[in-house]
Amino acid sequence: MNELKGLNIVWLSETDLTNLNAGEGESNYIDVKKFKRDGIEYPYVSGQAMRFYLKEAMRRSLEDKEYMCIPNDKGETCGDIKKCIMCDLFGFMTTVKGKGAVTRVSPVKVSPAIGMLPFDENAASGGADFLTRRHRVSEGTKMEGDIVNVEIGTNIYKGGVSIDMVRVGSNEKIDEERRAVSIENVVDVSEKKKRVKKMLEALRYLTDYSKQARLLTDFSPDVIAISLQNKYAHRLQKLFELYDGREVNIQRLNEILDDVSDYSDKILFGMVSGIVKNETEVKKAVEAKGISVKTPSKVLNEAMELV
Ligand SMILES: [Zn+2]
Repeated sequence: MNELKGLNIVWLSETDLTNLNAGEGESNYIDVKKFKRDGIEYPYVSGQAMRFYLKEAMRRSLEDKEYMCIPNDKGETCGDIKKCIMCDLFGFMTTVKGKGAVTRVSPVKVSPAIGMLPFDENAASGGADFLTRRHRVSEGTKMEGDIVNVEIGTNIYKGGVSIDMVRVGSNEKIDEERRAVSIENVVDVSEKKKRVKKMLEALRYLTDYSKQARLLTDFSPDVIAISLQNKYAHRLQKLFELYDGREVNIQRLNEILDDVSDYSDKILFGMVSGIVKNETEVKKAVEAKGISVKTPSKVLNEAMELV
């Protein structure tokens, strides 16, 4: 295998009736974040919240000697990428004694999770109505009997992660004389791989999203594709487009798989049944590219072995 430059993961996850936004402030109404496309509202979970969920899943699986710092009251982290898995993978902006403000660009890029089905059941979307119930539930008492209303909905969300493999466990060094940038490894290759594996593992065990005490749901991947690339690119993120409610656009799937195959040593695909309508066609199309379709957990395990 060539040197791994990029690792992309894109997935679909069906959620039950839930609200996945972190409840901020003391507002007694927590709405679902929404965006509009062609006049129709879709829910989404911010990239910031997704990063938080990923970090928390990783924190749960920390082993002896592994370290992830906890941000201080100003939200600043330790900035020690040799020691701290979180600062290394997720970047930081912090002040270091004697150095002033130091910024690290996150080698792990996380997309917002985007709802693929309209939020409003009255939206003209053909066939998606059974998934888009809209309710308000009382989330029980909070601070002196205050009732908190949480807007909730079901959906199929698309999530994505892209890892800049070269920048994991390394720093960019600017050579002033040559006016060039070089990469300086801070940890050895095995530690680098261990960190990336930890992140992949976290995707299997995503659980720490908000409001799970009353709105338990599973947000881990139901349909997933992972590319191990010898170029750094985000193209795989375009793989899934759903139309007619739950049908995967097969032509798009083919086009993106062709594109990404050009610079990937391996593309993995996993799917559980009952998520997308045309799963037989999806399976056929993927297998026609020489990629076998497994379960999402098998695929994540295989990616961990290949890293
Ligand atoms: Zn840290």
